[in-house]
Amino acid sequence: MATNGTRIGILGGGIAGLACAHYLLERGYTPIVFEGSDRLGGLGTHFDHRGTALDRFYHVILDSDAEICRLLADLGIADRLVWSETGMGFHLGGKLYGFNSALDLLRFRALSVPDRIRTGLGAAYITKVKRKGLDLDDVQAGEWLRRIFGRSVFERIWLPLLRAKFGDHVDTVPAYWVWNTLNREKNGDQEVKGYLRGGYRGLAETLRDTIVARGGEVRLESPVTAVESNGTEVHADVAGRDEHFKAVISTFPLPLLKRVARGALAASVPLSDLQYQGCVNAVVVSRQRLERFYWTIVVDPKFPFQGVVETTHVIPPEWIGGRHLVYTMNYCDAGSEPYQRPDNLVKRQALEGLAAIYPKFRVENVEDVYVFRAPYVEPVWSVGYLRKRPAPRIADSRVYVCTTAQAYPRVTAWNTSVGLARETVDALVGDLG
Ligand SMILES: Cc1cc2nc3c(=O)[nH]c(=O)nc-3n(C[C@H](O)[C@H](O)[C@H](O)COP(=O)(O)OP(=O)(O)OC[C@H]3O[C@@H](n4cnc5c(N)ncnc54)[C@H](O)[C@@H]3O)c2cc1C
Repeated sequence: MATNGTRIGILGGGIAGLACAHYLLERGYTPIVFEGSDRLGGLGTHFDHRGTALDRFYHVILDSDAEICRLLADLGIADRLVWSETGMGFHLGGKLYGFNSALDLLRFRALSVPDRIRTGLGAAYITKVKRKGLDLDDVQAGEWLRRIFGRSVFERIWLPLLRAKFGDHVDTVPAYWVWNTLNREKNGDQEVKGYLRGGYRGLAETLRDTIVARGGEVRLESPVTAVESNGTEVHADVAGRDEHFKAVISTFPLPLLKRVARGALAASVPLSDLQYQGCVNAVVVSRQRLERFYWTIVVDPKFPFQGVVETTHVIPPEWIGGRHLVYTMNYCDAGSEPYQRPDNLVKRQALEGLAAIYPKFRVENVEDVYVFRAPYVEPVWSVGYLRKRPAPRIADSRVYVCTTAQAYPRVTAWNTSVGLARETVDALVGDLG
């Protein structure tokens, strides 16, 4: 479709920004994407290890991720997706358990037999009996889960699971988020996860190429330092230049948008003091497979992380030179001690921690360890969030938001960002006509 010449500024070159540009072009608009860093992909971006691009943070697609699958089909790259059967582990009381099936639950000796039965019945209630979850928006997750599973199951199983996403903010999370996530994660009996050949870097670059080929622009190293809307136009200060647009879509975390908003817009940015959970992870590049699970929750004082993700259960190791990738992660506030720990300490803790809980792990098989941090990963959802969730357009302005703070009750994921991008573009096109 030819563009109608209407320029729309897009702030941020992560998946949300690139998907917005893609959908705007489909509707005849001309998007200009501004990314402050030197590469696309945002949280899904990569780093270089001896000439091979690897993900900074672990990323997979689920078989229920319809939005991203549709986008891949639009781009003609759906055949790059490979699917693998995966499993989840639980390291508790010095022992590693599978945590995937009724049989696993029967063998889960970290819980008493009555608690195992209660866990099975509770999970069946959440995923098979309770078909609607809206009423849970006003209920605290901890309270709801304690009621269904009892205190000991909550403390042994649910608390570590919630901590692995929300750190110290577990008490604020609504039950609706938990219900929705559990019903997303396991559609069938066998967990399946997908990965794109070429990684997320390949998707970001394909999006960039199609955006440019269809008349849009993607500018790297273009930090946005100010944005102001006068009702009919939006001005943005980008790398010292004044850019103006009919409308702007911001994909920044809301506190970052607040930081650059000027004039009346500054007072209208929604939830500008929303708290976010950050994440710090060590990426251990090894010549050795670690274990049989993609994701393992770890509760063990010898392991100062919340869990382990081994992405080479989904990424064929031959795609990355026969290597195996193990991520050890901590979700925490950007101001907290685990987030601020020096890189060398995080690297040492990752290696020593893995050696302490996985007897077959050998440090001599490790090629390198990298540490990455991100301050704005998971908005801290609070009870009643549906009523607080920001609308696509900021009132009395031509500035739209397409950001993880609107994901709820969906999980923050590329699939959700692509869906939000489609919804934001629909709202913008509806307003501009
Ligand atoms: C550890 C971890 C594991 C994850 N696992 C998965 C997974 O398995 N599957 C999945 O689908 N998702 C996963 N996610 C979530 C996924 O990465 C995010 O939900 C998604 O990338 C958010 O995209 P976004 O475009 O909204 O934001 P971002 O990726 O944060 O993009 C925002 C962009 O704005 C840019 N920016 C910020 N300020 C400025 C400025 N002033 N000027 C210009 N540019 C600026 C940033 O550089 C960035 O590129 C994971 C995330 C983490 C951290």
